[in-house]
Amino acid sequence: TNGGSVPGSSRPRLTVVSGPSGVGKSSVVSALRELHPGLYFSVSVTTRQPREGEVDGEHYHFVDRATFDAMVADGELLEHAEFAGNCYGTPREPVEAALRAGRPAVLEIELQGARQVRVAMPEARLVMLLPPSWGELVGRLTGRGTEADDAVKARLSEAERELAAAGEFDARVVNADVQTAARELLDLITGETTVFDDS
Ligand code: 5GP
Repeated sequence: TNGGSVPGSSRPRLTVVSGPSGVGKSSVVSALRELHPGLYFSVSVTTRQPREGEVDGEHYHFVDRATFDAMVADGELLEHAEFAGNCYGTPREPVEAALRAGRPAVLEIELQGARQVRVAMPEARLVMLLPPSWGELVGRLTGRGTEADDAVKARLSEAERELAAAGEFDARVVNADVQTAARELLDLITGETTVFDDS
């Protein structure tokens, strides 16, 4: 069913998922992908070094700083930001192509980028993922073992800043359980759109 709305009356939506490093964004977004293969998930460009197991073109497009700067200069990024010493950005064209094709698009990005999307695309919905508690977040970040001490500190201070901005978001989802959080997110994405009728 289309929830009572007129078919074709609503445009596919852009949803931004933000939240502090360590909140489990990647896990929730992976679970969301499983729940709905019809969604388009943006692949960001970054100047960060790949982590163990990360695949170029799948988790990120890994680029050097000169390439990143050229993409910014050419207007190829929908938004971009520096985070904990590295640059990240969303390639514009694939997102616009997905929306044109009727696929809702999902961006998993940090706070500064979310704010830029809000300005560039006011119809976008911004969702912040929250940890069950601050202690939980610190535990997840320090226990992850993927980052050096300095990087963990940088991410913790970014995390504090991100959580302080939770009120700017259209919705907040607590990630106590990955599947539950993914389903809540899917509800937010599908709530006001009719594009899932054929799935
Ligand atoms: P990580 O290095 O842990 O993969 O990502 C660090 C932070 O950058 C995370 O909060 C992640 O959501 C964010 N991020 C990933 N891609 C982008 C992007 O394209 N733009 C922005 N603004 N942030 C991003």
